[in-house]
Amino acid sequence: MIITTAKQLDNLFDVLKEHQCVFLIGCGSCAAACHTGGEEDIIEIKKVLEEHNKTITGYCIPKETCHHLLTRKELIAHKQDIDKSGCIMVFSCGAGVQAVVSFYEDKEVYSALDTLFLGNVHRFGKFSETCSMCGQCVLNKTGGICPVTRCAKGLLNGPCGGAKNGKCEVNPENECVWVSIYERLKKLGRLDKLVQFKEPKDYSLKRKPFHLNITLPKKNNKE
Ligand code: SF4
Ligand code: SF4
Repeated sequence: MIITTAKQLDNLFDVLKEHQCVFLIGCGSCAAACHTGGEEDIIEIKKVLEEHNKTITGYCIPKETCHHLLTRKELIAHKQDIDKSGCIMVFSCGAGVQAVVSFYEDKEVYSALDTLFLGNVHRFGKFSETCSMCGQCVLNKTGGICPVTRCAKGLLNGPCGGAKNGKCEVNPENECVWVSIYERLKKLGRLDKLVQFKEPKDYSLKRKPFHLNITLPKKNNKE
């Protein structure tokens, strides 16, 4: 899930200072789960903006705002209310905001959230980052625990030697992930993997922005 947090209200008022009428767009998926862009959150922020004399012409919550087809459907359904607004404020991750931007050449679209990371959900409100989508996964070599993301130095051949009592020297609140990797590989009887040299990653493969077009195999009509 993509983890987001709400920007400070001052920040929102600052970007909205030139606009009276605003249309709000949430996200029924990740942002709803983070309590930053679900229906309750949009109703709450709508109230706050109205208390500050803004006119909210309407709102919608696409199922997944990053999904262009789903978002487009919602935008068409709310066209009249959107047309009445001077700008749109989106409560989703950056990908959702840009999906909305792609549909409007002549209307300003603002982001109301900060997008933080791809996160695991432990329980409501408790998220952790375990994968930074590096494009060359090394989990099979590290007992299924990611050093690229969970080691503060991103070491592929750790540890760095600075850990104390199993804690990371950079942030002692965190476990040293290389201690976790060692312990897991030991339990699995695969400490041999720990001493295998892990080749440097080829960062040239991670050329941004990524695009992926999946072509489905053609159905065999004879079947
Ligand atoms: S190595 Fe880590 S950051 Fe890269 S894809 Fe695997 S889990 Fe994600
Ligand atoms: S103490 Fe462990 S987690 Fe922290 S930087 Fe060193 S190897 Fe990485």
